[in-house]
Amino acid sequence: MTDNVVSGNNFLRTIVKEDIASGRLSGELVTRFPPEPNGFLHIGHAKSICLNFGLAKQFGGRCHLRFDDTNPAKEEQAYIDAIQEDIRWLGFEWSGPIRYASDYFDTLYDYALHLVRNGNAYVCDLSADQAREYRGTLTEAGKNSPYRDRSVEENLALFDSMRNGEFDEGSRVLRAKIDMAAPNINLRDPIIYRIRKVSHHQTGDKWCIYPTYDFTHGQSDALEGITHSICTLEFEDHRPLYEWFIANLPVPAQPKQYEFARLNVNYTVTSKRKLKMLVDESVVDGWDDPRMPTIAGMRRRGFTAAALRNFCDMVGVARSEGVVDVAMLEHAIRDDLDKNAPRAMCVMDPLKIIITNYPDDKVEWLNAPGHPNRDDLGERSLPFSREVYIEREDFREEANKKFKRLVLGKKVRLRSAYVLLAESVVKDAAGNIVEVHCSYDAASHGADPEDGIKPKGVIHWVSASHGKQATVRLYDRLFTHESPDRGGEEFLDHVNPASLSIIEHCWIEPSLADAAPEASFQFERTGYFVADKLEHTSGAPVFNRTIALRDTWGKESDV
Ligand code: ATP
Ligand code: MG
Repeated sequence: MTDNVVSGNNFLRTIVKEDIASGRLSGELVTRFPPEPNGFLHIGHAKSICLNFGLAKQFGGRCHLRFDDTNPAKEEQAYIDAIQEDIRWLGFEWSGPIRYASDYFDTLYDYALHLVRNGNAYVCDLSADQAREYRGTLTEAGKNSPYRDRSVEENLALFDSMRNGEFDEGSRVLRAKIDMAAPNINLRDPIIYRIRKVSHHQTGDKWCIYPTYDFTHGQSDALEGITHSICTLEFEDHRPLYEWFIANLPVPAQPKQYEFARLNVNYTVTSKRKLKMLVDESVVDGWDDPRMPTIAGMRRRGFTAAALRNFCDMVGVARSEGVVDVAMLEHAIRDDLDKNAPRAMCVMDPLKIIITNYPDDKVEWLNAPGHPNRDDLGERSLPFSREVYIEREDFREEANKKFKRLVLGKKVRLRSAYVLLAESVVKDAAGNIVEVHCSYDAASHGADPEDGIKPKGVIHWVSASHGKQATVRLYDRLFTHESPDRGGEEFLDHVNPASLSIIEHCWIEPSLADAAPEASFQFERTGYFVADKLEHTSGAPVFNRTIALRDTWGKESDV
């Protein structure tokens, strides 16, 4: 992995450095990435992964992967598997086994008993509506629950009955006894255990009560010896509660929570709930649809792990919310692919060229560079024959000087091959051009034409006799609106109707048919493409457009 993950600076690195300098961090730095397995990871999670794993790597520490699985109803094994694959693909490896918050359910239950015994928790029978009323508001203090002063014995007996499944869901909860007048609503006797009669993907039917996220997270950190528990800003108001649990429980360590701003990207939604809606309503073809801002989707689109890591580094880590321009992400992708993707040719809208002075049965294998600036990417061999395809838009019967492609009576160079002169066209009954007849200059391969008249342009091409057919999928941004889910608007209304177009029967240079799934290429003059991860090898080769060569979003295409 490149060092870019740990370059630059951010306030969390500064905190860790200070903690090392002051001796507050005497042992290893231990961080964790704690996804809830209720969907696929997205670009925002990529940032959290780069941050948590990146810090551990920079300071020679450890980063744990812990599934925060306290809400069994929404969680699935498929998500657990996908999340692991995504983290590894991004270039990171967690320390030790995969951990689950549910590994600590026994301990958490003991911690709850500890609070009850110390008079710090009670079973409350208020209904959800009543509890809301008692909670108060931001400006008004809450009221004590009538069940708040139950004796320790009564609470122990009721909590035991909760655990044994004797009560209905929603009829009782266990609450921490903190302060109903606290200005921070999170401290107004928060719920720590709920009755949920559902089986859990890790613990099966062992439990019918489940700890809340707040009662789980900090204690799990403490149990794992996490030194720096990094989360996003929406948990800032939960920090006093996190600290209250750590202070009031016999935990083995004292982790500290730090918050940073979520990554938001324009023209994108970064919420698993909304991404799930796109999947469930078949707006896209699944979580790994190349239009999705999921790690799996971006991977299938042809974004590289290095480019995503670079992007996460470029956006930095802040304490205040902001929106990053998607152009920055696209820049990171182009930058990486420009340097590393081998060149190739693909004709998407073929027009047949017949080279009348080229022998019918002759084939030449012409060498072309794999990459203009990268000798290490070697050379490729292009078959040249009497019939070739060019793009229909690269030929005109008449054109002004700005059109630097093939024009009747004029010359053009075929990339890495010969100069052609267009001599005549063949049209069908409807007047459409079906063939262009050209002559070629046999001395022009790698040399200027002997008559000294240089062609103005270079176009891409594929041999009609040796080329292979492929399907190309052109992807564009999924949303047409800069902030699809802000301002209370219905984000599904902003889906770009033209986010995918499929072009069948494109012509590719033959070696591309053998490209490995997930191999990236720059198709000359048309963009960056990737051999589809799943479908490339099953039938006609399939290439996904990762991104156009230049940023043309919102601009008229040039001639
Ligand atoms: P979502 O709203 O998409 O479900 P989440 O925060 O509920 O996000 P989790 O699975 O709980 O998703 O997140 C795992 C980790 O990733 C958390 O530490 C969370 O703070 C972090 N994370 C989630 N979204 C972002 C984001 N947009 N930017 C940075 N970090 C994020
Ligand atoms: Mg969450």
